[in-house]
Amino acid sequence: MRKLLILGGTTEASALAAALTGDAGFDTLVSFAGTTRTPRAPPVAYRVGGFGGVQGLADFLRGGGFDLLIDATHPFAARMKRNAAEAARVAGVPLLGILRPAWSGGDWTRVSDMAGAAEALGPAPRRVLLTIGQKDLAAFKAAPWHSYVVRSVDLPEPASMPPDAVAISARGPFTLDAERALLKRIGVSALVTKNSGGSATFAKLEAAAEVGVAVVMVDRPQPMLGIETVADAEAALRWLDRHAATDRRV
Ligand code: NAP
Repeated sequence: MRKLLILGGTTEASALAAALTGDAGFDTLVSFAGTTRTPRAPPVAYRVGGFGGVQGLADFLRGGGFDLLIDATHPFAARMKRNAAEAARVAGVPLLGILRPAWSGGDWTRVSDMAGAAEALGPAPRRVLLTIGQKDLAAFKAAPWHSYVVRSVDLPEPASMPPDAVAISARGPFTLDAERALLKRIGVSALVTKNSGGSATFAKLEAAAEVGVAVVMVDRPQPMLGIETVADAEAALRWLDRHAATDRRV
């Protein structure tokens, strides 16, 4: 049996954990950062919390006797991806990244970061839906003349929000009908989103195009170079099959 650590917090990590449930070939542990107050428990063993940087993760891999590491963190979890790459190298553990394809082709205003997104909303007051998670709200304090609706899994701390903001708590996946209804109900003229990719949160972009809501799309951080990467859990399973035969403890 091979010991596998999955860095999770995404649909892909959940799908992979589900596919490995009861698999006699892998002893799987999923790791969550602990940013979501009520994470969906995976059907395999899991742990919660940071490792303490590169050295902490390398020690965790070595100490736990892990044979394989899969980084299935979110496309915007740039620090964890860097740490995973370096820790895998230090610990000598094969690493696979899962990175879902980015969204493309929409008539969106593309920006490279949250400050750029706040700026792109312009000088005239607007009502804006922010679907960017809790961590990045601070940038919009620089544009306090807009009125914001913040949608995130957990309600953000009030102090983290721009002054004129209300929060709604919701967890995807979201349907087109529900997204269309939400955009009409809250009456926004703009939507700010990260280019997360995937199907679970894509409907808001279709709804925005239908309803005439402008989209400000924050581009992904630079991808990690030199890391073997696949697009989904199915491809990760094929990688695991290949590595099952070359386990370093065999
Ligand atoms: P990040 O900025 O890249 O990572 C910050 C720190 O959080 C890391 O240095 C690490 O702490 C810890 N961490 C991150 N992912 C972890 C994991 N799976 N297990 C254990 N520790 C983890 O990450 P983030 O953007 O805050 O994202 C945190 C988590 O939320 C990730 O698991 C990600 O998949 C998920 N998520 C993120 C987004 C997003 O937009 N960023 C969206 C949906 C889900 P140490 O250095 O102490 O090890």
